[in-house]
Amino acid sequence: MAQYQPDHYRVLGVPVDAEPKRLKEAYHRLSRVYHPDLRGGSRAATERFQLIAAAYGELSDAAQREQYDRKLVLMDPLRLVDDPRAERALDRIDGLVGRLRRRPKALPLQKRGRDLRVKAEVPLHVAALGGIWPVAVDYETTCGGCAGIGTTEPELNPGCHVCDGAGKVKVGLRRQLQTCNFCHGRGEVLLAPCADCSGSGRLQDRRDIKVKIPRRMRDGATLRVRGAGERPIGGGPPGDVIVTAKIASHPLLEVRGDDLICQLPLTWTEAIGGCTRQVPTLSGPQRLRIPPGSWSGRELRIGGQGMPRQRTGRGDLRYILLLDSPADLSADELSQVAQLESRLGSERFARRVRFVRALDELDPPSE
Ligand SMILES: [Zn+2]
Ligand SMILES: [Zn+2]
Repeated sequence: MAQYQPDHYRVLGVPVDAEPKRLKEAYHRLSRVYHPDLRGGSRAATERFQLIAAAYGELSDAAQREQYDRKLVLMDPLRLVDDPRAERALDRIDGLVGRLRRRPKALPLQKRGRDLRVKAEVPLHVAALGGIWPVAVDYETTCGGCAGIGTTEPELNPGCHVCDGAGKVKVGLRRQLQTCNFCHGRGEVLLAPCADCSGSGRLQDRRDIKVKIPRRMRDGATLRVRGAGERPIGGGPPGDVIVTAKIASHPLLEVRGDDLICQLPLTWTEAIGGCTRQVPTLSGPQRLRIPPGSWSGRELRIGGQGMPRQRTGRGDLRYILLLDSPADLSADELSQVAQLESRLGSERFARRVRFVRALDELDPPSE
């Protein structure tokens, strides 16, 4: 891996559009810190001083600086151009931006953006019948406030004293290069981080994308939305969004094979006298007629309104009636119910009568 080399502007701790006067000030300030004579000939300080001198040497000459800026654009496009918002920040560097715009094809960066993976819950009716469903995706974008550099005041950030601005340090017996822990590879200490991104140079942006849900979607299905992923820095085709889609459980409808089951509780008068009730279906509520004399466990079936079948058609939507009862009847209330029941006579409860007869035949009384 190539060693991280801070560019001339970073070495001097100045913004890319710094005036010559500011370059000179930075050079004098840093020389006073890193001059080998003042640092007892320390090798790190000497190397650092050489970088500072080389940076100033090149940037202090207008023609050489222009050439260097051109090279910098190619070396590190992130530094100077990224998304449209960054361009506003770059407008200050008029000359440079002008040159960039004239030669967009010179940027050798046409790699595809990153794919983004997200999890989503799809409601049952969309998962069954198919349709478009919005899914929230977190995008990382370059911070417009600092153009991705992490600071708007580079001159306030001193070079890192741990890695001497290299961003890497040598560790272990084999002197392997590792990212500097102190500056996280920046080569400078971020004393003045950008207020918008806290110095990361990136911002999170949550947006909804429209995902096409197929009919009869499987729970946990993987759906790919082409071109909705991250846009690569410096231009190029965007990546994809890969959605792992879970079917959200419905509060009232339960999937059983191709059928849908709904438990429908009724009061005594609704069940005994019959009624019309509002019931859920996959395509919104509809009215269901409950015939009089209904009992708990009775099934009312609407054909073709269940889950889509493998090939064609749909299963059934089955409403299972439940005769609900209050659990807290007073003794008085209970005796009123008992009075009515005894007036009716046990013979009026047809299913109960059939049950008792069948039981008697099953187990005749012994002689
Ligand atoms: Zn460091
Ligand atoms: Zn920022």
